[in-house]
Amino acid sequence: MSVPLLSGKVFLLVTGASQGIGKQITESFATLLGNGSVVLLIARNKNALKETAQKLPKSLSVHTASMDLSVATADELKDVVCKALGSESATQFEKAVIVHNAGSLGDVSKPANDMKDFEIWRNYYNLNVFSPAILNGVFMELFNKETKVTRLVVNITSLCGIQPCKSLAYYCTGKAAREMFFKVFAIENPQVNVLNYSPGPVETDMQEVLRNNLGDADGKKTFNDIKASGSVLTTEQTINRLMEILKLQNYKSGDHVDYYDKQDLKQ
Ligand code: NDP
Repeated sequence: MSVPLLSGKVFLLVTGASQGIGKQITESFATLLGNGSVVLLIARNKNALKETAQKLPKSLSVHTASMDLSVATADELKDVVCKALGSESATQFEKAVIVHNAGSLGDVSKPANDMKDFEIWRNYYNLNVFSPAILNGVFMELFNKETKVTRLVVNITSLCGIQPCKSLAYYCTGKAAREMFFKVFAIENPQVNVLNYSPGPVETDMQEVLRNNLGDADGKKTFNDIKASGSVLTTEQTINRLMEILKLQNYKSGDHVDYYDKQDLKQ
């Protein structure tokens, strides 16, 4: 497949690239990047990041940064991006692509009424809402309008960001806030291509947690039924769809596009 937004000399940053959907995004996108492209992978698990990195084409310059995004400061984030840029300047790239994929479910055992601890809320939002907002700001400061680099921002969102699910108040509110941040960002920055991609139910650790630990019994059954019916997607299926969506360009910048959406016409 050829995806114009991912061709040529690209600077690609993927968060949560150590496993699951982020690992697949990295592997699939990497096959499309031109010679001399730079890839920066961020997550906590250093060895798993290295494994992802080792699978990528040798024509790419691949960097990994093991960091906890829930505590990383803007300066630390800027530092890892600058290290990956090395002696090159932002203007030397044709495209700059950032994929905000890292995320967590939080405690899925409790109803909303039992979520009474400020510290838990703050920690959850630090990773899932504040960190992508800040990293995005750092990235846009480096790859700014003056660089004339074509910019693509993909936020990995969820159906839970637009549809409430019992026992998932941390996750649903986090996804909704994060998605709205990128919608605001999109209208403020019409030169940047912004996609909120909802990947569908995908077979990763996250789905397993929902099947085993979801507090709401009906919801838990639904996730187990999805698995039993064979409807859980592979990471490859959902990322192939993402690449198709990026290729077709039938969305408006900032839109929420789901794996299952029909994407033939611009609304
Ligand atoms: P996984 O749990 O498999 O992966 C989550 C990724 O986020 C890991 O690479 C993890 O790396 C990283 N991460 C988690 N916490 C931190 C942290 N504090 N600092 C840095 N990185 C962190 O889940 P998925 O692959 O399923 O999820 C990826 C995205 O897809 C998430 O945003 C999720 O909400 C979304 N999504 C998933 C769906 C699904 O069905 N799987 C459905 C809808 C949306 P490490 O542990 O090494 O830090």
